[in-house]
Amino acid sequence: MTNQTVYNFSAGPAVLPKSVLLQAQEEMLDYQGSGMSVMEMSHRGSIFMDILTTAEQNLRDLMGIPSNYKVLFLQGGAYTQFSMVPLNLAGGFETMDAVVSGTWSLNASKQMGYLSEAKVHIAANSIQNNQFSYAPLPENWQISPNSAFTHFASNETANGLQYQQLPSFPKETTLVCDMSSDILSRPINVNDFGLIYAGAQKNIGAAGATIVIIREDLLDRTRNDVPDIWRYQSFIKKQGMYNTPCTYAIYIAGLVFKWLKAQGGVHTIEQLNQQKATLLYEMINQSEGFYRNPIQTDFRSKMNVVFYTPNEQLDALFVQEAEKQGLKGLKGYASMGGMRASIYNGMSLNGVQILADFMKNFQQKHQ
Ligand SMILES: *Cc1c(COP(=O)(O)O)cnc(C)c1O
Repeated sequence: MTNQTVYNFSAGPAVLPKSVLLQAQEEMLDYQGSGMSVMEMSHRGSIFMDILTTAEQNLRDLMGIPSNYKVLFLQGGAYTQFSMVPLNLAGGFETMDAVVSGTWSLNASKQMGYLSEAKVHIAANSIQNNQFSYAPLPENWQISPNSAFTHFASNETANGLQYQQLPSFPKETTLVCDMSSDILSRPINVNDFGLIYAGAQKNIGAAGATIVIIREDLLDRTRNDVPDIWRYQSFIKKQGMYNTPCTYAIYIAGLVFKWLKAQGGVHTIEQLNQQKATLLYEMINQSEGFYRNPIQTDFRSKMNVVFYTPNEQLDALFVQEAEKQGLKGLKGYASMGGMRASIYNGMSLNGVQILADFMKNFQQKHQ
């Protein structure tokens, strides 16, 4: 055991609110007088059913999810949705559109075409000299005719760039959004989307649960030759339990939703997230070039703040010295290098302030 306070800036799995972990600890051996851990219970028993329905209701309240949308807690991570979405939404269509704004949406665009009759059409791509520094704005998306949907990522976790304003033009196409790393970080209008998905391990909870929010009228598009386990309908027909769900991850997600409600919900957390991001971006701006962020100002992510020192040796030293101070998980994404501070909902303002102070001291020492 270490006595040092640790601030976890990892991109995911990521920091969770301490009160949530403490509650899980308290309930670990005996969930509310049942004499069992949530991990040990039947997923069809009334106790777990209650955990699941409460989690869903709280997510609906937090995000304002309308009643004509279904909410699923699936497994397999966001990666699984890269192919589950096409298998379910592209039946009978010639094309699927993909907007490429960074590592994850690029990845998705490559996976979407497998096993599908519909072809992937890149509606927009902001890569320049092998780098992403902004996301293509919707007015520049070239949506194909007879397009099943348009896929994009609201926040590019590896690149540190984000749509500050989410696209909304449901008339021309059906928007499908990978919100893995910024779901519940700000208010959104669910009605603008046909489908939203997110792995839980960034802004929600433990790895293992994948949230899917889908508009009901899209559910009949699934091709006949798709196996049941890959059909959204299979889960919907069985109250989310076509097979055994990831019960413990759903329980943790439920605790996080309750915590977020107690904080005041997404409007309140958005303001806090804004404050946290501002602290770091101002530190970068005021460093007179010592720290560099490659993202255009209007697209800088409020969840993943990417920065570089003047050279790679200093970057490595930064990560090393930060670790010693208890500031963990700051190494940038493998192909990106540099540093990345992930400051999801679970990261406190205090933690970000401590990182900002560390950055200032590091600059003074090594400039
Ligand atoms: C982490 C991440 C993924 C991959 O998620 P898995 O749950 O590991 O499959 C996909 N998209 C985005 C935006 C991510 O941040």
